[in-house]
Amino acid sequence: MKAAEVADFENEMTSAKADWQLVKYSGAVHSFTQKEAGNDHSVGAAYNESADLRSWAAMQTFFTELFNESAHLTMLRMNAAFDWSKSEQDFRVAADAAGFQATTLLSLEAGALIAWEKPGNGPHIYLSAGIHGDEPAGPAALLELMAAGFFDSSAHWSICPALNPSGLLKGTRENAEGIDLNRDYLQRSSSEIAAHAAWLDSLQTPDLFISLHEDWETRGFYFYEIDLHNDPSGRVETILNAVKPWFDPEVGPEIDGHEVDAPGWIYHPAEPDFPENWPEAIFMAKRGCPLSFTFETPSSAAIIHRVAAHVAGVRAICKELISTRPKT
Ligand SMILES: [Zn+2]
Repeated sequence: MKAAEVADFENEMTSAKADWQLVKYSGAVHSFTQKEAGNDHSVGAAYNESADLRSWAAMQTFFTELFNESAHLTMLRMNAAFDWSKSEQDFRVAADAAGFQATTLLSLEAGALIAWEKPGNGPHIYLSAGIHGDEPAGPAALLELMAAGFFDSSAHWSICPALNPSGLLKGTRENAEGIDLNRDYLQRSSSEIAAHAAWLDSLQTPDLFISLHEDWETRGFYFYEIDLHNDPSGRVETILNAVKPWFDPEVGPEIDGHEVDAPGWIYHPAEPDFPENWPEAIFMAKRGCPLSFTFETPSSAAIIHRVAAHVAGVRAICKELISTRPKT
């Protein structure tokens, strides 16, 4: 672009009384945000890491100012393809700011499997998402909660926002080797679950586990509950009411092959549906975690609603547990 053309554009915007800004990045040529563009600047198209990071941050600031909401929500609202590699960067920044410590459980070409922890005065709450790579609302919801400062000192938090980096990269339920990771907690045949389960084994048993999922076959919201104390008092209403602004509860008589106990609610025994195929929630129950919820939002709905529903459900059930448990 010629300098005179830039000057013409600036004059045109100014005479139209537009509120404008122009951002320039030194050393940046065409395609500077595309890693595939390579690093040969002489051909006129090349990747430039510092310009990529700076322009991403500048765009986020612009969106936040423009729409008065977090930039990743704006991206989702614009129906941009969910890109965990970008969101992961945002999650890392937000988690660092919130005082979380990262432990890298596994490094894959597609990205890292990271556990985030922050001690606090209250129950130990563990949250996970992204074990199925075609279910982006869970990781996006944890990012939203992290960026909003929800994970404060009222609980001890352990969080794995993206358990399946290669699936998230490709948008597939399974990992790159075709394994459904959420059936692998007994055998631990995948490197992801071998690393993740070993970390969970080292963890002090949480008081509450929440995992965030989506379902391609439903229209409403539903959740699984595993309750070792067999005392389901009032929590169904807490969760369903929180989610109600976005989704009605999915009606039965069957959801995902399970008899429902009330619309939207599957009160599941602490035993796997298939003896060899342990999902994470069964593993947590076997490890003695007394209470777990698996939230399922309908994939056919707008992602912004799926994220909002997960956020509301997590907020409601954590708030209830924190208020009813004595501080430790
Ligand atoms: Zn899932």
